[in-house]
Amino acid sequence: MTTVKCETPSCDQPAKMKCPTCLKIGIESFFCTQSCFKASWNQHKVLHTLATGKDKSSGSCNLYPNYNYSGKLRPWTQTQKRPVPEKIARPDYADHPAGRSLSEEKMRGNTQIRINSDEDIEAMKVVCKLARECLDEGAKVCGVGVTTDEIDRAVHEAAIERDCYPSPLNYYNFPKSCCTSVNEVICHGIPDTRPLEDGDICNLDVTVFHRGFHGDLNETFFVGNVKEEHKKLVKVTYEALSKAIDIVKPGERYREIGNVIQKHVQHHNYNVVRSYCGHGIHELFHTAPNVPHYAKNSAVGVMKAGHTFTIEPMISMGTWRDISWNDNWTAATADGLWSAQFEQTLLVTDTGCEILTQRRQNDGKPWFMDKMLD
Ligand SMILES: [Zn+2]
Ligand SMILES: [Zn+2]
Repeated sequence: MTTVKCETPSCDQPAKMKCPTCLKIGIESFFCTQSCFKASWNQHKVLHTLATGKDKSSGSCNLYPNYNYSGKLRPWTQTQKRPVPEKIARPDYADHPAGRSLSEEKMRGNTQIRINSDEDIEAMKVVCKLARECLDEGAKVCGVGVTTDEIDRAVHEAAIERDCYPSPLNYYNFPKSCCTSVNEVICHGIPDTRPLEDGDICNLDVTVFHRGFHGDLNETFFVGNVKEEHKKLVKVTYEALSKAIDIVKPGERYREIGNVIQKHVQHHNYNVVRSYCGHGIHELFHTAPNVPHYAKNSAVGVMKAGHTFTIEPMISMGTWRDISWNDNWTAATADGLWSAQFEQTLLVTDTGCEILTQRRQNDGKPWFMDKMLD
């Protein structure tokens, strides 16, 4: 018989106690002890709201009025798909009607991690540098009153100027050239016509495809005057990524990354989103290894020189649970509390790692260093 483990993310104890409210509404969750249940209550009760569908929404630009949003943000209308000139080389999914990547699907379930040749590594260095430049172009326009669609335009045009295809465009039918994830949106937010508001935080995730290879990175930006509590979330998320990068070297296990990240953020009472992971990246956008960001995960694989992959922790102020909007892409926190993310593409070297998407100004320091009051 398999033993059920306690619902609390940081707890590993076998659990037999069921939550009575869950039982009443027809779901089941297990806790180890009464005190663990009490300590987890604020996070756990979100499940009850989700399961009973209590709606708090009242947005003026609400495309899906019956959807049970967890926070204040709503989707706005999207602009038309932006064209990519014929002369730019495209990944296989760009022209597939369902946006399927058959080259990726062929490798699904395969946990073997590719060791890139010197030539592949050269190509990865080039595409990752270009991806960084495209993200920086998007970041330049990000501000109060600017729509995420305008950020998408900036990223799209920057990619084309650099002879790159913006990788998210038509990937499993994703409609835009980058992801913009605002406030309680964890990841995969679709750029739309909502103007950013003073106090928002906006994650911009950019991937580009150049000469057959992908480079992927993201950063979370402050929009205008951001509350101290949200600034702290962004800073701690950046630190978590840095600490994880610090352990990357040949012989390290991929599953250790989650231990480092969770240890750091747990200390600040934040939680690690579990549904989305870092990934191998090279000629394929998403492939082995799978890199969870939470502790005690069972990721397969040991790092070797020549591996290229991303680390991209998504950290939330409340629950680690996510819900998907019914656009089938946007992932938001289940309790509507905000979440932040940073991502880099890494190359494992003989002695450690190289951050291929590293910021090139300010000695590689994060953009917000001078904006933190601390
Ligand atoms: Zn990624
Ligand atoms: Zn990304």
